[in-house]
Amino acid sequence: MSIESQNPATGEVVDTFDETSAEDREEHLERATETFEEWRETPVEHRQQLLSTAADVLRDGAEEYAQLMTEEMGKPIGQARDEVEKCAWVCEYYAEHAAEFLADDFVAGEPDARTVVAYQPLGPILAIMPWNFPFWQVFRFAAPNLVAGNVGLLKHASNVPGCAKAIEDIFREAGFPEGAFTSLLIGSDEVEDVIGDDRIQGVTLTGSDGAGRAVAETAGSELKKSVLELGGSDPFVVLEDAPMEKTVETAVQARLINNGQSCIAAKRFIVVDDVYDEFLERFVEEMDAQTVGDPSDEETDIGPQAREDLMEVLHGQVEETLEKGGECRLGGEPMDRDGAFYPPTVLTDVPDEAPADDEELFGPVASVFRVPDEEAAIEKANATRFGLGASVWTDDLERGERVARRFESGAAFVNELVKSDPRLPFGGVKDSGYGRELARDGIREFVNAKTIWVQ
Ligand code: NDP
Repeated sequence: MSIESQNPATGEVVDTFDETSAEDREEHLERATETFEEWRETPVEHRQQLLSTAADVLRDGAEEYAQLMTEEMGKPIGQARDEVEKCAWVCEYYAEHAAEFLADDFVAGEPDARTVVAYQPLGPILAIMPWNFPFWQVFRFAAPNLVAGNVGLLKHASNVPGCAKAIEDIFREAGFPEGAFTSLLIGSDEVEDVIGDDRIQGVTLTGSDGAGRAVAETAGSELKKSVLELGGSDPFVVLEDAPMEKTVETAVQARLINNGQSCIAAKRFIVVDDVYDEFLERFVEEMDAQTVGDPSDEETDIGPQAREDLMEVLHGQVEETLEKGGECRLGGEPMDRDGAFYPPTVLTDVPDEAPADDEELFGPVASVFRVPDEEAAIEKANATRFGLGASVWTDDLERGERVARRFESGAAFVNELVKSDPRLPFGGVKDSGYGRELARDGIREFVNAKTIWVQ
């Protein structure tokens, strides 16, 4: 069987790959397990060195990798280059800090005993990753886990097989041993078997809550550790003292980054009455000013949606919201051209329980809500089953922090768009998942925090 990757801007086939056969899958799992036995014993300094080389390989091939992402999933080329650079950053970050994060913790216990917590790797970890940041999501998993002494097996999204193979090659070129990082080109129907395999010690997934539930169920029944980074419907709260120019400019960026397909994109714009009309007018104007087009063109702000079927789901959510009483202020129809192009869209008067209120809209569609005051804004921000990120905009930083602390989310930003950063833990609460990636917390997810007591 073969897998095709398609350019969503043109519908053309980019490349064709052979699916991983059952026989090859078995071989890869066996190799990963053997490699782990040696890899776990290598000094962390050596693993750090290889990660640092991976950063060099990424930078050397940045243009090629960026073009691959743009071709396979439609990311504007400038953003694709930024993504490669961010992957190099996370490699360098763990190359610098892994030894410190993995060092034994000495804990004061009984006076006559030496009590220590050691952080030891678990083994082969399966990573199920999405197409939206096809390099970053994988490196965010791979950098901390490989340097911690685990080995990785990747089941990437079916529409980005070229990225999956390229990432495997990057680790090979950096000098990681065969079996330290392997891409399995398998369908999601094979994932259950892989999680159930005795050699797999843990599983991490970034994607929809539906996929998360399926993976968590299997991992739970197999008693295997899981980390889930799922969707979000991040609120972007605008208070009456918000610095309006910067707020509007960032609001547009926060909604449209990656063609609107980011779990931490701002999706619900919650604006207090005093500044609602001003915000809406300027926001619609700025959204309308964005350039939609060929993602390989340097001038393009918004490329196509990653797949035709995803665009149809998005449009269905918009239509249902309008049927239920929402108003469309901009966009709202697929564009009349080849490729999966959807324009910047702004919805208002969105009723409770319309899709634009209580589902994740994974595309360039913003919903703007009017609320009377700060208290109502916080209530609306938290009135969602998701809890990934949130931001608040105000001139009063103390007030901003007070509001940020009340958001039910894994991250809360004041006067900044929600973003991931290797130095800070990343993850969600509620239906946005559990566990943390990045920083010290991320490297400690798939390790055995072993208590050692020496009397
Ligand atoms: P999915 O969640 O279906 O895909 C993400 C990954 O999970 C892919 O590798 C996919 O493989 C795999 N997968 C899907 N179903 C299962 C399953 N039952 N068991 C094991 N693995 C599975 O996302 P979609 O691409 O279908 O996008 C749908 C929606 O998900 C988006 O509109 C968005 O709302 C959300 N999403 C959120 C992301 C995030 O960053 N949190 C990223 C991507 C999507 P395969 O491709 O082979 O199906």
